[in-house]
Amino acid sequence: MKPSGAVRAFFLAASYRSVLQVTQIRDFPDESYAVCPRCRTTLPREYMRYCDRCGQCLGWERF
Ligand SMILES: [Zn+2]
Repeated sequence: MKPSGAVRAFFLAASYRSVLQVTQIRDFPDESYAVCPRCRTTLPREYMRYCDRCGQCLGWERF
């Protein structure tokens, strides 16, 4: 059985709500920024609850 679009959208939304741990840091000459584990954008602040760009719920356990 092929999953319907609605089912897929549900799982996608659920995956955004579940916490993804931030594990990457990108270094710049002056500062280093954490990187969103989903969309790989740099995060302007540490310990943000959600990514500004993709809305991913972020975890900071490894910091
Ligand atoms: Zn993101």
